[in-house]
Amino acid sequence: MDKILLKPRREESILRFHPWVFSGAIAQIQGHPSEGDLVSVVSADGKLLACGHYQIGSIAVRILSFDEDPTLPDFWVRMLSRALRLRESLGLGENGTNCYRLVHGEGDGLPGLIVDFYDGVCVLQAHSVGMFRAKNAISDALREVYGPSLKAVYDKSSGTAPFKAGLDLVDGYLWKAPGFEEDEAVVLENGNKFLVNWNEGQKTGFFLDQRENRARVGALAKGRNVLNLFCYTGGFSIYALAGCAVHVDSVDSSARAMAMVDRNVALNGFGSDDHTSYCADAIDFLKNVPEGKYNLMIVDPPAFAKHRGALKNALRAYQRLNAAAISKVAPGGFVFTFSCSQVVDKEAFSLAVFSAAAESGRSVRILDRLNQPGDHSVNIYHPEGEYLKGLLLYVE
Ligand code: SAH
Repeated sequence: MDKILLKPRREESILRFHPWVFSGAIAQIQGHPSEGDLVSVVSADGKLLACGHYQIGSIAVRILSFDEDPTLPDFWVRMLSRALRLRESLGLGENGTNCYRLVHGEGDGLPGLIVDFYDGVCVLQAHSVGMFRAKNAISDALREVYGPSLKAVYDKSSGTAPFKAGLDLVDGYLWKAPGFEEDEAVVLENGNKFLVNWNEGQKTGFFLDQRENRARVGALAKGRNVLNLFCYTGGFSIYALAGCAVHVDSVDSSARAMAMVDRNVALNGFGSDDHTSYCADAIDFLKNVPEGKYNLMIVDPPAFAKHRGALKNALRAYQRLNAAAISKVAPGGFVFTFSCSQVVDKEAFSLAVFSAAAESGRSVRILDRLNQPGDHSVNIYHPEGEYLKGLLLYVE
């Protein structure tokens, strides 16, 4: 294994279990590692600190192990079993939920790897060269961990693995059980049915991170007129319907997503009296909403800031969008508002929503602060893993 030798005193973050080595901390690279190779990380005074995947760029090493040997044959099985144990202890995989995130990168000690589980189908996304190169070993380990309940392992890394690596980036099955032919499945989330298409859908096919917040919407939807903006395949809409909303309107600019919403509405036994689909720009749609028409709104836009440079404009966009929602919601209404931009932290988001409330001039209370669920766990030494935040507002 080639060696990454750190500059003096640059081992401190690794001793605190931060899972990245930045290129600026490196004094010397001993050997000629290729991107994705396992390398060892050594302090200036020669102590072995960790092992990880090497990559050219500002994050030079993504650490897989501080004490174990990631070259051992059972490494992946051990790490994936550990991830599964946590999900099982959260009650995922039973009680009406058969889809969840199995691996959340750094949160599970596996930087650069996402694995989502859809009733026996694992959809893998590599965000680093090392994880991309390890995908077949990971697929084999998933088979061992899940045993005969595993139906397939699908690699969806073409949009996430770094292209400069010149890797063969074609999505497809790494393994499937004999007879398995589907690209689509009906999964259960808290007893609600959802179609997931990992091949054509966004990300791995479904936004599993909103499970608990959807349940919250369901619990408050009774008797309400609901507007679900940026609805994707209608996650929040189905929970609202199941929670006895009077009517739900769902809006997304993706025609493919809206077609899935209609199928999900029917799949859960609802019809056109209960629900209406709008394939439209959510911001334009909101402009034309009559004041007071809705008394529960969900605002869950895509990440407005994908990097720090976009932060200022993103905060302005969150403010504008939330000001429009808060102004339009009926008195006594709830607004569930979210940001999934990692670079927008909780405080900055709260401040944008505060400014939006002030702009609307209405009385607004924060009833709750919303988060990503436990299967999207955050390594306490890697706060960068926290990305989803939301507020439940009560507007008078
Ligand atoms: N709330 C969803 C996830 C939202 S992801 C869920 O629970 O599953 C963000 C969604 O916003 C995507 O479906 C994307 O198609 C949609 N989108 C992006 N820009 C949009 C716009 N300007 N108007 C409407 N929808 C938009």
